[in-house]
Amino acid sequence: MRYDSYQVIVVGGGLVGASLALALARQGKRVALLERHAPAEQERVQGWDARIYAVSPANRLFLESLGAWPGMERIGTIAAMDVRGDVGGRIEFSAADAGGEALAWIVENRWLLASLWRQLRDSDVALLTGVAVASLETTAREARLTLEDGRALRAELLVGADGANSWVRAQCGLEAEIKPYGQSGVVANFACEKPHDGVARQWFFGDDILAWLPMAGNRISMVWSTSDSAALLALPPEALAERVAQAGGGLLGAFETLTPAAAFPLRLIRPQAVVAERVALVGDAAHTVHPLAGQGVNLGFQDAAQLSALLQDAPDCGDWMLLRRHQRQRREAVAAMQLGCDSLYRLFQAKLPGLPWLRNTGLTLTNCLTPLKRQLARQAIGY
Ligand SMILES: Cc1cc2nc3c(=O)[nH]c(=O)nc-3n(C[C@H](O)[C@H](O)[C@H](O)COP(=O)(O)OP(=O)(O)OC[C@H]3O[C@@H](n4cnc5c(N)ncnc54)[C@H](O)[C@@H]3O)c2cc1C
Repeated sequence: MRYDSYQVIVVGGGLVGASLALALARQGKRVALLERHAPAEQERVQGWDARIYAVSPANRLFLESLGAWPGMERIGTIAAMDVRGDVGGRIEFSAADAGGEALAWIVENRWLLASLWRQLRDSDVALLTGVAVASLETTAREARLTLEDGRALRAELLVGADGANSWVRAQCGLEAEIKPYGQSGVVANFACEKPHDGVARQWFFGDDILAWLPMAGNRISMVWSTSDSAALLALPPEALAERVAQAGGGLLGAFETLTPAAAFPLRLIRPQAVVAERVALVGDAAHTVHPLAGQGVNLGFQDAAQLSALLQDAPDCGDWMLLRRHQRQRREAVAAMQLGCDSLYRLFQAKLPGLPWLRNTGLTLTNCLTPLKRQLARQAIGY
């Protein structure tokens, strides 16, 4: 069989796979990127995208280094956070607490993806789009991939960046613990009557968690984690706007719905390992977290940034010792984020007597402790 040879093949051209392929190409590596549905340039300008990301300052730097940070006209700045518990607890902190400019930037999925793909199309990455993968096998020397159109590829390293239901992960027999939260994240964008002042707001309502994230201009994006997504999805635009504005106590006045609500199932995914012979997983293929901290894609960008740094001068990109290092490097950050989000989620779900008082008092006490608040702000910024 005739193989096209690369140093690295990336399967999945979402945000994480696209950024990794680009970072490796910038180092002069021979890279192929496979993506089922390549984003078309015109998709970017089709109105607002309800799927947004809170991109951390560290990841903004990474995207800037790739020339893929999109123009600021569609980006919101989170200058401060205001988090409220279910019975009166409250904590507020700001970027200024950690001496930073912003805690994070709110970027639409489509906008960021289009920006990355524009760079990819101008790069030396071999873009294999609209074609399905058929089989994957590995040997001690290389990974071999066949496509459904009969083409065959091989590489020193194959990276699975193919999302939470990763085909690569399954082909390698990397079993994953998948824990559904029994909730969905409902997302939608709204124009609001009063200025949001760059404040991201979050409410823990016991079972539900609601976040309002400041977008460019007088707009916010909502992520509402709930076990009753059907009720929100069924609302017509005016009723949805009213329901969401009221859920936040009318803090930003009346809302107008900009995008229809969409729901995504929430689950925790923990594979037993994120590397196998000649294979590494990154992004949602390697981990998912509850979106309450908005850190899913940030972890994925850090996978891409750290893996590309590790491969910078590697004579063999799929060397087993390097892959083990990648796994070790990422394990702690990912586990800490998964544990943190999962514990916070459970703390507010638990129905034990006295617990609502305890968790709300905890929030309020933390709010009074300046060093702890500074630490929270620094963590959000990614120091
Ligand atoms: C409700 C909700 C809100 C969220 N909010 C935030 C937030 O505020 N901040 C944040 O950081 N994260 C957030 N996340 C998480 C974030 O969406 C994910 O972490 C991120 O999209 C993962 O990117 P990825 O590139 O790893 O995977 P994906 O975006 O899933 O991309 C995978 C890509 O692989 C392609 N693919 C799959 N299989 C194949 C195949 N066999 N062959 C070829 N291509 C394939 C797909 O077409 C896709 O393009 C949120 C998630 C949810 C559910």
